[in-house]
Amino acid sequence: MVVELISVGTEILLGNIVNTNAAFLSEKCAQLGLSLYYQTVVGDNPERLEETLKLALGRSDVVILGGGLGPTQDDLTKEIAARAFGKGLVEDPHTKERIQAYFDVRGIKEITENNWKQAMVPEGAIVVDNDNGTAPGLILEEGDKIVILLPGPPNEMKPMFNQDIFPYLNKKQPETILSETIKICGMGESKVETMIGDLIAAQSNPTIATYAKTGEVHLRLTAKAEDKAAAKKLMKPLIRELKVRFGGNIYTTDEQMTLEEAVVQLLKEQNLTLTTVESCTGGLFTGRLVNVQGASEVLKQGFITYSNKAKRKLIGVKKLTLKEFGAVSDKTAKEMAKGAILTTGSDVAVAITGIAGPDGGTKEKPVGLVYIAVSVKGDMHVEKFQFTGNRAKIRESAVVSALTLLRTGILETIKF
Ligand code: ATP
Repeated sequence: MVVELISVGTEILLGNIVNTNAAFLSEKCAQLGLSLYYQTVVGDNPERLEETLKLALGRSDVVILGGGLGPTQDDLTKEIAARAFGKGLVEDPHTKERIQAYFDVRGIKEITENNWKQAMVPEGAIVVDNDNGTAPGLILEEGDKIVILLPGPPNEMKPMFNQDIFPYLNKKQPETILSETIKICGMGESKVETMIGDLIAAQSNPTIATYAKTGEVHLRLTAKAEDKAAAKKLMKPLIRELKVRFGGNIYTTDEQMTLEEAVVQLLKEQNLTLTTVESCTGGLFTGRLVNVQGASEVLKQGFITYSNKAKRKLIGVKKLTLKEFGAVSDKTAKEMAKGAILTTGSDVAVAITGIAGPDGGTKEKPVGLVYIAVSVKGDMHVEKFQFTGNRAKIRESAVVSALTLLRTGILETIKF
């Protein structure tokens, strides 16, 4: 099945907002095994939108339109989609009730008239409830063509797509598509690709696609078969082979799980408490961990020791160490981790010290130089990194490397 995306909104054309919805939807379409050849952005202009939709319907089986479902005058997607199929708009009592309930829950008594516009749906459309807003999603089926209308706000569109549209499209597919993700850390994309060059060259069903993220590589495997069991059977040997090749570098095979979640889970499983000490990342690492629900079970304390004085006063880094080796050195990183353990009594400590730039680099210690120390139950691992990119990229790379090093440190220590 061929699918096409149309994002509606002048704000996107003007660059006021980034089209993250299209990125999300494209990835989902790939997971569904749909062929996507065109994506268009069109402003809130009825003629151009109509023209774009007609063109899309002429060359694709499914057209997904995002945005322009709201209550305001310039929200025209619904009217134009209905017109493309020669339909009018009718009131949907169920949506009307949901809109009323949405405002009741929020204690809003005066509902402006234009909000009821959102209860008008194209005749015969399948209405998809919006659990996070008032504009419902809509599916229009006409002959062998499908038009799907989704709300613009990502916090409304994404859950709706995952919950209702994904299964709907999956059912429409003549074959079942099964997609699995293998997430690898501690290896660059080129190394990963080299290690599976033969598998990529021989791929047919399942297929393998690699996606490079900062400090991580994700492998997306997609199998097509007559049913789920058959697709799983096709997938199994490939997953087994990848597990053999990448071993402990695979941190999860769960599509939803992040690296920080995997690390927090590991700390919990091993009953380990953690203290962090950050210099150049200034809390970014601790923040990533705190994003994970339940991080409080493992995270004892986080120090931001940006200055030398803070490194000395808060966690006892020696004056002499700082003087002789500098704040960005393996000795300082180790003393930061050691000091954290002594100060808080946690089982594990992570210390990060480096030069995020753009200033502060020297020939001996260039911008991007970062030392990360991990102490697990007295075992100290320290690693030197030379990252590239701007300040934000260097700090992000340091955070991901610290997560990876922490994970490896725990796995290596508990092995013995
Ligand atoms: P509303 O009911 O809020 O009016 P809508 O369905 O009419 O929603 P738009 O008005 O087009 O959608 O967009 C609402 C907001 O959703 C935008 O201001 C923007 O923040 C976000 N948004 C819309 N389209 C996209 C997109 N393609 N990518 C990311 N964000 C988007």
